[in-house]
Amino acid sequence: MPSRYDAALQLDISLEMAQRHGIPSQISQAELDEIDQHPPAWLVQSRANRTGKKPVWVKLECAVCGYSEQARPKKWWPAFTMLACFDHDLSELPKPADAGAHREFTYGVGSRFTGIVDAPAA
Ligand SMILES: [Zn+2]
Repeated sequence: MPSRYDAALQLDISLEMAQRHGIPSQISQAELDEIDQHPPAWLVQSRANRTGKKPVWVKLECAVCGYSEQARPKKWWPAFTMLACFDHDLSELPKPADAGAHREFTYGVGSRFTGIVDAPAA
């Protein structure tokens, strides 16, 4: 049975919002689909407000082993070229598309990722 967390992911709302609007800690998939397909006023409002804005949840996926998790995007994250688990060796990462690219790393993304940005050579 989906949890409130699963419900928040599916409806693309924050956990706080799910709680505030009475999504129970366990919800049946049928109920969840019903809310998703026939959203109550608060959800319609939330979706309308968010048009064109950043998604509430993003999928982080490791470019090396494919491990993935859902996370709330942080304002300070740049647009990552790729992500990898922090414990992979740098040599395991796919090479930059542009051989002259300058590779920058952002540590502490999600629970276990390093964010990689390949900036084009100046
Ligand atoms: Zn990995």
